Amino acid sequence: MLGPVILAASRSDKMRRLVSAAPGTKQVVARFIAGEIVDDVVPIVQDLSNRGLEVTLDVVGEDITTVEQSYAARDAYLELIGRLKELGLGERAEMSVKLSMFGQSLKIEGGEPGGLSVEGGGGRREGGHELALSNVRPVVAAAAEIGTTVTLDAEDHTTLDSMFAIHEELRKDFPQTGCVIQAYLFRTEDDARRLAANGSRVRIVKGAYKEPAEVAIQDKPEIDKAYVRIMKILMEGEGYPMIGSHDPRLISIAQELARRAGRKLDAYEFQMLYGIRSEEQNRLAAEGHRMRVYTAYGTDWYGYFMRRLAEKPANLLFFVRSILTKG
Ligand SMILES: Cc1cc2nc3c(=O)[nH]c(=O)nc-3n(C[C@H](O)[C@H](O)[C@H](O)COP(=O)(O)OP(=O)(O)OC[C@H]3O[C@@H](n4cnc5c(N)ncnc54)[C@H](O)[C@@H]3O)c2cc1C
Repeated sequence: MLGPVILAASRSDKMRRLVSAAPGTKQVVARFIAGEIVDDVVPIVQDLSNRGLEVTLDVVGEDITTVEQSYAARDAYLELIGRLKELGLGERAEMSVKLSMFGQSLKIEGGEPGGLSVEGGGGRREGGHELALSNVRPVVAAAAEIGTTVTLDAEDHTTLDSMFAIHEELRKDFPQTGCVIQAYLFRTEDDARRLAANGSRVRIVKGAYKEPAEVAIQDKPEIDKAYVRIMKILMEGEGYPMIGSHDPRLISIAQELARRAGRKLDAYEFQMLYGIRSEEQNRLAAEGHRMRVYTAYGTDWYGYFMRRLAEKPANLLFFVRSILTKG
């Protein structure tokens, strides 16, 4: 029951101020967020890489309100790619981006600077769609130059038609560009079939947002069943499946489905979040699996952090305890 309450709080400015200012917050945040600036994450990427793990890097900060912030987000990724290039880490590290941070969710009237309006996903999107596309394109191009790629994260359901359209557009020049699908949405099996047929890189996750019953399965065991059906579609398809989960049952089912589909160990990968089930990450890598760690960093960590609390009530308990101790 706590999960939806925490997810609702993740949209509240008042809660953002309270949580950010609470004593002890920093210590708990550090479990999930690798640092504030590029220089904080470089040693972490090197360490994970030395342990046989790959990474996908996320610069947090989805809640932007101005066009200038969307440019700053683009530039933060370009800076990151520059550092990875210097260090020769391009092939070990890909990027994950939230298009909202690139301007997708901004309501921009008229043609400037976003351009077109598009309908979709239950929400009318003004020029933000075009703005996000124009911001993400140079990032995807720069990533390709250093031998890596970008995956478009899945946010709430109203953003997905725009995300898939941007994914399709980017794939014309950069076919390795990935995207994320969420098992809890009713639409996802159809999306999975389309993406599996066109050979896309696809990360499948359970889904981390608060979604209404009209669009999403609410029952956890039913979400797991949908996850298995979707994995089967992806494993049997033409694309590259990325299994984003810490759930031991789903991980062993993924291994079995990959074996039945005749996939070699390098024809799919597992992905987990930084700070969660690290031993399992090491174990899968030691078994010869491709194991990628989603590593988030940046100063605007609130939304990302609250989703991690919502996923596991014990995290909230730990958080509250650390506030009380410090307070
Ligand atoms: C690489 C990656 C990328 C993701 N990208 C997206 C995305 O683009 N869009 C989106 O909506 N969601 C994304 N998610 C989040 C995802 O939707 C789930 O909310 C999250 O992965 C928890 O689901 P689970 O599959 O791990 O299973 P669960 O049943 O939630 O967890 C299984 C077990 O994993 C451990 N665990 C899971 N979460 C936590 C946690 N926060 N803290 C401590 N232990 C935990 C616990 O031991 C738990 O029992 C991503 C997840 C991963 C791993």
